[in-house]
Amino acid sequence: MDGYFIKEDLIVPASEGVAVLVEKGNYIEIIDVEGKQVGDLMAWVRDTKNEWFSPAHSVTQNWKIRLDVDDLLVTNLRREIFKIIYDDVGYHDIIVPCCDEQAYIRRYGLEGHRSCLENIREALLKIGERQHLSGELAWNMFMKNKIQEDGEVIYEEPIHPPGSKIILEVLMDCVVALSACPQDQTPTNGGNCSKMKINIWKKE
Ligand SMILES: [Zn+2]
Repeated sequence: MDGYFIKEDLIVPASEGVAVLVEKGNYIEIIDVEGKQVGDLMAWVRDTKNEWFSPAHSVTQNWKIRLDVDDLLVTNLRREIFKIIYDDVGYHDIIVPCCDEQAYIRRYGLEGHRSCLENIREALLKIGERQHLSGELAWNMFMKNKIQEDGEVIYEEPIHPPGSKIILEVLMDCVVALSACPQDQTPTNGGNCSKMKINIWKKE
């Protein structure tokens, strides 16, 4: 990253979330420290109350559900918020919502299980942010879903190794939150929920 320095480096502890403010021109580097871990990302445009990163609108921006380097991610108002600059994993889910408390109660009978939605809510509160929160605003990074011919969605165990990463260019000032997914009832996180790392790069 010539001409850039790390403005902030953050650890997202296993099964927890972190939120951070970023500016246009920054790069967000998200690293899966131990491998096979899914990170759920949400973002909201700064100084507005009605604009956020939208996975569904990003599907129609690119006309595909598997995004590649140079693809653009957009908001619910179809404005460009991130560009994918680097990605050595290559699979991410952009169609299912993040996990939430009700999913663990209804599917597995588990009360009080941590979830991406609550992780992100907690992370936002820690930096004094209250944002519109809903599971379908999450992009499930490094999540390996297979979509069958008949449309069935299968959650597969990820295969990416420790140190795998993705880098996003920030195109609008925004609040970004990442949850290290606490899903331990499916192969989503390779049977071991682990920490992640975020580096925010800024131009020198
Ligand atoms: Zn999750």
